[in-house]
Amino acid sequence: MAGGASQEVDHFMKGLVKRNPGEPEFAQAVQEVVETLMPFVLDHKDYQQAQILERMTEPDRVVIFRVCWEDDQGHIRTNRAWRVQFNNSIGPYKGGMRFHPNVTLSVLKFLGFEQVFKNSLTGLPMGGGKGGANFNPKGKSDNEVMRFCQSLMIELHRHIGEDTDVPAGDIGVGAREVSYMFGQYKRLVNRFVGTLTGKGLAFGGSLVRTEATGYGCVYFCQNMLNHIGDGLEGKTVAVSGSGNVAIYTVQKATELGGKVVTLSDSAGTIYDPKGIDPDKLEWVRALKEERRGRIKEYAEEFGCEYQEGKRPWGVPCDVAFPCATQNEIELADAKELLKNGVKVVCEGANMPTKIDGVHAFLDAKILYGPAKAANAGGVGVSGLEQSQNALRLSWSREEVDARLQGIMNDIHGKCVHYSDQEGGWVNYVSGANLAGFVKVADAMVAYGVV
Ligand code: NDP
Repeated sequence: MAGGASQEVDHFMKGLVKRNPGEPEFAQAVQEVVETLMPFVLDHKDYQQAQILERMTEPDRVVIFRVCWEDDQGHIRTNRAWRVQFNNSIGPYKGGMRFHPNVTLSVLKFLGFEQVFKNSLTGLPMGGGKGGANFNPKGKSDNEVMRFCQSLMIELHRHIGEDTDVPAGDIGVGAREVSYMFGQYKRLVNRFVGTLTGKGLAFGGSLVRTEATGYGCVYFCQNMLNHIGDGLEGKTVAVSGSGNVAIYTVQKATELGGKVVTLSDSAGTIYDPKGIDPDKLEWVRALKEERRGRIKEYAEEFGCEYQEGKRPWGVPCDVAFPCATQNEIELADAKELLKNGVKVVCEGANMPTKIDGVHAFLDAKILYGPAKAANAGGVGVSGLEQSQNALRLSWSREEVDARLQGIMNDIHGKCVHYSDQEGGWVNYVSGANLAGFVKVADAMVAYGVV
């Protein structure tokens, strides 16, 4: 970056940090975007005059509320919940709900900000938002989770709607939680409309939505590899996490000829050099979705290594799919991956790589697929669920999967079109940021000062 742009980034970030004290995740997400956008904005007077970067980094609104519920022992519990409605310039707010004890306003603002760009990249008319609560579903009974979801929706329902804001799942919010929230929403508004996505198939859900983020991430990886005349066939693959995104990333990567050798959770990593075949993966799905167990049990069941407290990044691999959580690849992990010859890092999780790790991947000129492009398949199919709900139709599995592949191909094409390219190497970070930005920025300029 030229000296002038770099100074502008520093100046901009100082102001942002001052306005948003104690929000490191939000500042990190903005920094990554502004670093690539600043030279472009400095070349475009209309964006500068409209103060686009200042406006795009301020959410439209944030709702914060108390959620009280009763546990199975009859004790009253209190949690805090948020909905960050970040930007609705190109469509109703859209983004998941996260239930995890480390959820804060900073985490949700980073996720909401990323979502604006991601949703724009899909080509569908969706603005960006995100929400969640500092509630830990782990160790809670189904009834406790239900009471929490119902209590949360008593407040949330007045802020959302099929043309206003359409929440979905994220960490800690899967089919069970979406169902409880939708059931309560439907009861409160007395209308059956597609205000939440990720619903069950019997009540307005879309085929392939469960698999969409993982499948889409692998399609994006395959697109990056195909662009340089390569493919997943025969590649050794490391995946982190063992939740929704991780499971369907493993499934699709295996189907396309990769050998996946790791999975993890917040307690440790399993390393299975023989590969996680479809039977083992089905066992993991039941472990996580039905028994809600720990990944350590895989090592006991299939007789492989368990690395307590470790992430998968020390295991040699050609392709890495971080699919657990933010900041799970630190600079040392990035260096370890590069030392072991990683060729592709494709992000299923949101902002899994710290900024210095991102710089290390870009300096090494590997194929690095940033989250807002690589994991957009989930929200893409959520958008298709909204379309099906509005049309009162259900598309077949083949049709939704074909549309998902089309969305991921388009995103890849946009990234290539907008990226800085050096000797044929594509910088997917600049490509994704610019392609996502232009559409939203142009809409904001057209609206005038709002
Ligand atoms: P799940 O709750 O299904 O799974 C999360 C997985 O990540 C679990 O294995 C969990 O382990 C692990 N994990 C969570 N927090 C931490 C932590 N602090 N340290 C280490 N491991 C952790 O969530 P999803 O699979 O839905 O989401 C995973 C990532 O993908 C998130 O970044 C999410 O924002 C992103 N994403 C999800 C989409 C979706 O459609 N679901 C769409 C786009 C992005 P444990 O059980 O021990 O907590």
